[in-house]
Amino acid sequence: MKISILGSTGSIGRQAIEVIQKMPDYFEVVSLCGGDNIDLLKEQIKLVNPKNVSVKSEENALKLQKEFPKINVLYGEQGLVDVASDTTNERILVSVSGKTGLKPTLAAIEKNIDVALANKETLVMAGDIVMKRAKEKGVKILPVDSEHGAIHQCLKNRDEVEKLIITASGGPFRNKTIEDIKNASVEETLHHPRWNMGKKITIDSATLMNKGLEVIEAHHLFDMPYEKIQVVVHPQSIVHSAVEYVDGSVIAQLGFPSMHIPIQYTLTYPYRFEGIETRSFDFVKAGRLDFDEPDLEKFPCLKLAFEAGKQGGTLPVVMNAANEEAVFAFLNQKISLWEIYEITKKMMEQHSNILNPSLDEIFETDRITRLSVQNLTKI
Ligand code: MG
Repeated sequence: MKISILGSTGSIGRQAIEVIQKMPDYFEVVSLCGGDNIDLLKEQIKLVNPKNVSVKSEENALKLQKEFPKINVLYGEQGLVDVASDTTNERILVSVSGKTGLKPTLAAIEKNIDVALANKETLVMAGDIVMKRAKEKGVKILPVDSEHGAIHQCLKNRDEVEKLIITASGGPFRNKTIEDIKNASVEETLHHPRWNMGKKITIDSATLMNKGLEVIEAHHLFDMPYEKIQVVVHPQSIVHSAVEYVDGSVIAQLGFPSMHIPIQYTLTYPYRFEGIETRSFDFVKAGRLDFDEPDLEKFPCLKLAFEAGKQGGTLPVVMNAANEEAVFAFLNQKISLWEIYEITKKMMEQHSNILNPSLDEIFETDRITRLSVQNLTKI
């Protein structure tokens, strides 16, 4: 399998490299794209020996080119798009963070290259456009996220589906009061009980906005109305998600929490191979499994996401951009955790929604929303 990794130095990208290293005969890495972590990228280049590398800045590209004269070094947004549309690829993994994932994903689809998608913004911002084009081109969008990966494995005939059940660990504040959440420090919020992830997604997991984004992604990936998507809090993170069929049968995907499994699944699909962690699943060790309804009073971001998703258009773009900027402001200790919700809600209320937006309208809405939030959170 000839693959490229867009975002190789992030959390998902690093684990993908581990998966690839375990199966050196199966994978051939065409390109690696990293951001600013050049030291790690250099290590990865030595490990997987790619033909092309792309980095964020021209300056770093020049340095890398000197050090690796045989590799074709690219940079910037265009570098990502060039890597993604290289037809040497049979599949690309899009694990960059933020809106930078959208253009390369579309570029790959145009060239009939299957996409293992770990970037949330791609579908939250432009799910209608991306999925329509993927369908027209017969390109597979394979979701890396554990929940969507689970549904992908459980979903057979979508006409017979009663509902999708997306599980949520509930984050660090599941058993806290609203007052605790309002006064939460950055440190407490970054302490996720189950998953070790990047900072942005960890904050989103604490507010349940992450689950909200996943609901919108699930709607697009599986072409399912919002009324048929249910979020269930499941603190042990053993059931990664499930599908209920019209006859009442439920098919769930289970496993101990590990991102290696869903990453490997999307890179080798439709085949399965022995994984990195050899321990097999054990129901007895998993022990007790609890399920609970999400508390929308304590976690109103989830409600916002359902609203944004149902209304569609550019409203999810506003929600995503406002939330991300507010999360950055929170991480920089400029606002409280609760203000992430308040700011996002305010931006959504102010927005005049554009239905069926073009890509330009999507990016412009994103840009304006970010500016507004930056002005609002400036001290
Ligand atoms: Mg997830």
